[in-house]
Formats: sequence, C-alpha cells, structure tokens
Amino acid sequence: MSIIQDAAIQFYQWSAGPARWWRVRHWRQAGTMPVAVLFYHRVADEHPNPWTIATKAFAQHIDWLQAHFDIVSLSEGQHRLGPAGNSRPTVCITFDDGYADNHRFAIPLLIERRIPFTYFVTLGNVVEQRPFAHDLVRGVPMPVDTVEAIRALVNAGVEIGSHTRTHPDLGQITDEATLFDEVVRSTQELSELVETPIRYFAFPFGQRVHLNRRGAELARQHGIQGVCSAYGGFNFPGDEPFHLQRIHGDPRLSRLQNWLSFDQRVVRIPRFRLGVS
Ligand SMILES: [Zn+2]
Repeated sequence: MSIIQDAAIQFYQWSAGPARWWRVRHWRQAGTMPVAVLFYHRVADEHPNPWTIATKAFAQHIDWLQAHFDIVSLSEGQHRLGPAGNSRPTVCITFDDGYADNHRFAIPLLIERRIPFTYFVTLGNVVEQRPFAHDLVRGVPMPVDTVEAIRALVNAGVEIGSHTRTHPDLGQITDEATLFDEVVRSTQELSELVETPIRYFAFPFGQRVHLNRRGAELARQHGIQGVCSAYGGFNFPGDEPFHLQRIHGDPRLSRLQNWLSFDQRVVRIPRFRLGVS
C-alpha cells in the first residue's frame, strides 16, 4: 500500500512539475522565494505514534533537505522575508515539546552536520520531569528532557525556544494573568534556567484555533522575536515575519517532498493574521 501511495504522490508531483517550475523561476527572479519552517516532535524507533518519526526516515529527510535547500536559523529565515527578499530555496528546522529521545540520534546528527535548528521546550514538564499529557492519554509516557540536557544544547550553540509552562490550548485562554504566565513568565523562567536569551515562542498544538492574538502581542512586547504556528503554509517575503507558519515534518518523505516542491495546496493555505508586526 505504501509503495502505491508513494507512486501516486510522485505522479501528482511530476504532473504538476511544469507549472511549479515556472512559478519557482518567477519567485527566484522576483526575490520572493518562500521560506519553509518544519516542525518535528520526537525522533525514535520505539513507541511509534503520530508525532514520532523513525531515525532512518529522519536521516533521509535531512539528506534530502541538505541536497535541495539552504537550512538556516529562524532569524536568518526571518531576514530572508525582509526587504532584501529571497531567491534561494530555504528551510528552517524546529522541534516542539522536549523529548529526551531526540538526544540519542536526531540532535547529534544535526550538530555533527552543523545544521541550525530551534528546540522549543515546555518548561513545566522539563522542570518537574513530568510526561506530556498527550502521551499520558495514550498510556505511553515518554521521557522528557532534563534541564541539564537543555543547558548542554545551549552550550552546543542550539537555539532554545519557549513552548509555554503547561502546554495548554492558548486559543481557549482569555484570562490575562494565565496568558501572561504561559507566554511571558514561563519564557523568562526558561531563559533564567538555561542562562540564555529566548527569542522564539511556539504555540502548543499550533492550529488556527489554538492561536491567541493577545498572547502574540504579549510575546512581542516582552522581547520575543517570532512566534510559530503549525497549521502548514510557507512564509513569503513581504509576509508578517513575526509569525512563522510551520509545515509538519511528515514521516512519509514522498509527501514532504511534494509539499516542499511548492504544492499549490500548501502555497495557498490562508495566513492567520496575528496582527503583530
Ligand atoms: Zn507541543
């Protein structure tokens, strides 16, 4: 079945090829090449689930990305969305939550290859060594990163990002004090804990309904340089660079390759206006 699915995706991508080629040519010439920001959660071979990618598949992703894109930091990605524009295929890599398993394969691979990435962690789970609620409901609690492990990432030059204190659905939070704690205070505490500035914030779950305009405003007011969603979509030069739309690092490489080859369904995903610039 999976071979048939791969073949179907590849045929779709091939049939759309000429149209995509002309579009990319135009973007390159106009300096409007989009920036793709990928998100992963957990890279491991045990306990597969929808937010885990196997080590071999992850390595294939990285090989393919390195062969076809500039893999840059979030700040360089934002720079390419600015007035200078962008004429190069560009990808940023991020991780959400803070799974200890990532330290066995994915992180050493990225560090060894000197590939920049941003690692978003949920403060409360790390500090209390508490498994994530979305793993507990499945009855498979996964080990969470320790403070020491995050500090080691900082020392290795990895950008650490904030992913709230308790991983709530921020779209449901209207209480200002709760919102401030989850977005601002937890970010400040994380910064103090790992002794490094925190410049980026990722909304838990990241679909449109989980975003919060007031939360984004608070983040901006308190020194955050960018916030990430997770409902798909590219970022184009001229877009509001403070809000970085992210695309799932789908374990099926053929599907990811099709999306990142500028599938119109991804290109046309409407942008959620956070109203913060
Ligand atoms: Zn998360």
